[in-house]
Amino acid sequence: MSAPDYSPDIIEKGRLLFARPFVFVKGCVRIADLPPMDKVEIAFAGRSNVGKSSLINALCGTSGLARTSNTPGRTQELNIFESTSAELRIVDMPGYGYAKAPEDKVRAWTKLIHQYLTGRATLRRVYVLVDGRHGPKDNDLTVMNELDKSAVSYQIILTKADKPSAEELKKVIVATQAAIAKRPAAHPQVILTSSAKGDGLRELRTEIAMLLES
Ligand code: GDP
Repeated sequence: MSAPDYSPDIIEKGRLLFARPFVFVKGCVRIADLPPMDKVEIAFAGRSNVGKSSLINALCGTSGLARTSNTPGRTQELNIFESTSAELRIVDMPGYGYAKAPEDKVRAWTKLIHQYLTGRATLRRVYVLVDGRHGPKDNDLTVMNELDKSAVSYQIILTKADKPSAEELKKVIVATQAAIAKRPAAHPQVILTSSAKGDGLRELRTEIAMLLES
């Protein structure tokens, strides 16, 4: 699957958007902790271990920005990142679907996410990360349902695209496209990324630059 033909101008805008460092601002466990709605926001959501921290770090070119870890389900906060040079805020949502997470944590997470997704006027798009080896799982579909219901624009990113074979990846792309085909708030274009190889980062940066332009 190839990226759309972007103009050199918008590709450059995407590059510049992430040319200056993003910094960690705060972790929010309650909606009341969130910064004022004064910047365009994009959020990253996905199952624990999908590669969300790695992707945010790769996107921003900062290795220690979001925590990468092999302890899934650890982060239960909305983590906020901002750049001094861009009117953009990145919101790293807690990873979901970790089987061993205590029930009260799952409940608190669900409530926080629900409140955030339904009440944030500056939230322009949610990037829903899906493992490129497996395609969407039930809890990914649940999140998509919620986004459709709340009319929050979202786009699927297939992560770890370096791991599956070309044939496996093709099947996952077809299954993912089928899963979003009739979803009103889903962006029709699926982005493939590999944080390990840097694939897809230019496309993602360009897409984000386009969001800021619109
Ligand atoms: P998170 O829980 O979603 O934040 O996931 P992490 O970013 O911590 O990644 C989970 C595991 O997947 C780590 O061992 C990463 O090194 C690995 N990983 C993340 N992205 C990639 C990728 O693009 N390719 C490969 N091969 N491994 C990755």
